[in-house]
Amino acid sequence: MVKLPIYMDNHATTPVDPRVIEAMLPYFTEKFGNAASRNHSFGWEAEEAVDRARNQIAALIGAKSKEIIITSGATESDNLAIKGVVEFYKDKGNHVITCVTEHKAVLDSCRALERTGKATVTYLPVDKYGMVDPDDLRNAITDKTVLITIMYANNEVGTIHPIAEIGRIAKEKGIVFHCDAVQAVGKVPVNVDRDGIDLLSLSAHKIYGPKGVGAIYVRSKGPRVRLTPQMDGGGHERGMRSGTLNVTGIVGLGKACEIAGAEMEEENRRLLDLRNKLQAGIFERLDEVYLNGHPTARLPGNLNVSFAYVEGESLLMGISDIAVSSGSACTSATLEPSYVIRALGVDEELAHSSIRFGVGRFNTGDEVDFVTDRVTREVKRLREMSPLYEMAREGIDLKTVQWKSE
Ligand SMILES: *Cc1c(COP(=O)(O)O)cnc(C)c1O
Repeated sequence: MVKLPIYMDNHATTPVDPRVIEAMLPYFTEKFGNAASRNHSFGWEAEEAVDRARNQIAALIGAKSKEIIITSGATESDNLAIKGVVEFYKDKGNHVITCVTEHKAVLDSCRALERTGKATVTYLPVDKYGMVDPDDLRNAITDKTVLITIMYANNEVGTIHPIAEIGRIAKEKGIVFHCDAVQAVGKVPVNVDRDGIDLLSLSAHKIYGPKGVGAIYVRSKGPRVRLTPQMDGGGHERGMRSGTLNVTGIVGLGKACEIAGAEMEEENRRLLDLRNKLQAGIFERLDEVYLNGHPTARLPGNLNVSFAYVEGESLLMGISDIAVSSGSACTSATLEPSYVIRALGVDEELAHSSIRFGVGRFNTGDEVDFVTDRVTREVKRLREMSPLYEMAREGIDLKTVQWKSE
């Protein structure tokens, strides 16, 4: 039997792998040194641990260890990449190209640059699967473009962009290419040279490491990419990111990268099986369900589905022993449907009906069966109470119905 509650929201965060915790523990206690202490063994020990982690991180993405700058997470990495490049290259131009379905850490960094007049930004659209068209990118480039920032894989719908092609276009035009690869690193093979990536953001807590630590890869050669630091201080991390290093967190990030690299192939097969089982189970038992995102160019653990005639939020309430996400952000006073789902051209109603399942390392086949069963039963129950679903079943085209407003 399964243990409740079930966590199936692995795009939001992941539990720390026990092997990662084990690697971290000594660095809280006997090995507590400051990695910047150059004159005693405590410092050397910490520095050695950080060097080892840097190698583990670099190996996972095909980088050199000196190209890895430690940060507090991908939000900071995205800010540093975008604001750092725009500031450093301001004499060359002030135009940035990004995409409408990016994470808020990217979109809000771009907005901040627009607000302060430091950059103009082009937001590329996506197709119905959530993918950018490389031709749109080509057409958006001007002689003032200094940065292209496009994510590797989307955190809501799992769509994987044609990154190597985007990288080729950037290289051809001599423009720096930043990629928020938080959801892709450790999940699908990422290689900064093959993919033509100049700057890459990653985060530990999305790959079974601890929260509050991440990194940014900064290309050192062909071309050497420069950034204006956003944090001033002791000149740590080759001057790009000052602040005492979070040694325990860094050790955890390194270990998480090492495990991901060693087990990715096998884990992907397993996650793909579980995801496909979940998808098949839902689509076999229910009518009027729609897949959001790309059918194949997609993260193995991601499933995003709209259940027509059912409010995502109501569905979540009905399955409270299962942790998944809905496409409605109820953080604000207004219930806004997800801007990502909307960007795919999905209508507002269906966007409100979307649920994101994130299958991860610690999910089991039994859990997938349980979730399939609970979700399909709850959707049926909610639809039984829905007059709209009844009308649609009777063949009434809801778009032609004249609703009275009183
Ligand atoms: C989670 C996430 C981030 C933010 O990472 P933090 O380390 O939590 O700051 C950025 N981009 C994407 C795509 C994410 O999924």
